[in-house]
Amino acid sequence: MGRAPHRLGPLTVDPRPWSEDAPHAHVDLAALRHNLDLLRGRTAPGVRVLAAVKADAYGHGMLRVARALSEAGVAAFGVATAAEALALRSAGVPGDVLLFGPVRAGIAELAAAGVSLTVAQPADLEAVTRALAGAGRARGRVQVKVDTGMGRLGMGPDDARALVAAVERAPTVDLDGVWTHLASADEPDATEPGSATDRQIERFADLLAQLERDGLRPRWAHAANSAATLVRPDAHFDQVRPGIALYGQPPSAWLATRERDLRPVMRVDAPVTFVKRVTAGTPISYGGTWTAPRATVVATVRIGYADGYPRALSSRAEAWHRGRRVPVAGRVCMDQLMLDLGPEGDAEVGERIDLIGGGAPSAFDLAADAGSFTYELLTGIGARVVRRYLPG
Ligand SMILES: *Cc1c(COP(=O)(O)O)cnc(C)c1O
Repeated sequence: MGRAPHRLGPLTVDPRPWSEDAPHAHVDLAALRHNLDLLRGRTAPGVRVLAAVKADAYGHGMLRVARALSEAGVAAFGVATAAEALALRSAGVPGDVLLFGPVRAGIAELAAAGVSLTVAQPADLEAVTRALAGAGRARGRVQVKVDTGMGRLGMGPDDARALVAAVERAPTVDLDGVWTHLASADEPDATEPGSATDRQIERFADLLAQLERDGLRPRWAHAANSAATLVRPDAHFDQVRPGIALYGQPPSAWLATRERDLRPVMRVDAPVTFVKRVTAGTPISYGGTWTAPRATVVATVRIGYADGYPRALSSRAEAWHRGRRVPVAGRVCMDQLMLDLGPEGDAEVGERIDLIGGGAPSAFDLAADAGSFTYELLTGIGARVVRRYLPG
């Protein structure tokens, strides 16, 4: 290690003069801290937080976010790829790293870096032990993923029980954890007896009890995403794995009405590049799908769908300009969009306009209007959007 070969995510500092012309994602580390504290307030003492920082921390910048969380006492991080795991290690972020999915490539390097590897089936364990046999000394930390109803990765509890026993028997690996993932913890019935979430938690708890009887005690047992961290304390076990709520976004519409104290961590703004006065009937943007309903002032803004502002918001969304909402006029382009500032409107080139959060609609609402959802919107914020960090 020492080197930082993995160039993941956006540039986090911007000494470059031209960054002033770019869209910016302002990442509020104090809000991140607030959300962490809110989630900690829902967990019993001794329950650890493993922060999901995959996908560049949901677009917020993995290394800066992980460092800020680490300073706030978070000692475990969840990622989706080997590159993400090794980038955390190369950057020297302390704490445990769990790779959420099984991998076949890079196992020896990951094990040497102390990354916990997920095994979901016997072949995953074989791949790990084979890679470690080839590599010599390194021991592997292994977590067994159990399918209790998500239907994505892992075997059912009976087969998982056998897999845990096999991990325990394998001489070159340590049983670091047993975990499952909840499919519906953000649904309105998540707190109800007999719900899908209820049944998943019960299956997982039964498996843990069985493992206990087998004399198998994983270091970490965990199941809860953000939604379950917020509403299902009986799913917390040893550790919770929040992602979206750390970034201040509710996991679903139901939780949006229930959880009003989450603070959005990201706000996106972008500069005006051109302002013009147009007459009634003037077509704006590709296809001329929008025409000025009256004489008005139109501003062009330097953000588009390649930056992650959804094209589905063409003529649908609003932005925030000088204390009021102004509509997107016509199709969102790859790098630009237009706003109808109104007959009395005015803007200066270089002036920044909120597009996501701040005075503009929330990431949650914009994603819903785009027929998407918050996770997709945030992770789609592109590499050309310069991240700026407000201290925590
Ligand atoms: C992404 C992820 C999480 C976090 O989910 P949120 O809904 O963002 O809280 C937790 N666990 C696993 C396995 C994940 O992949």
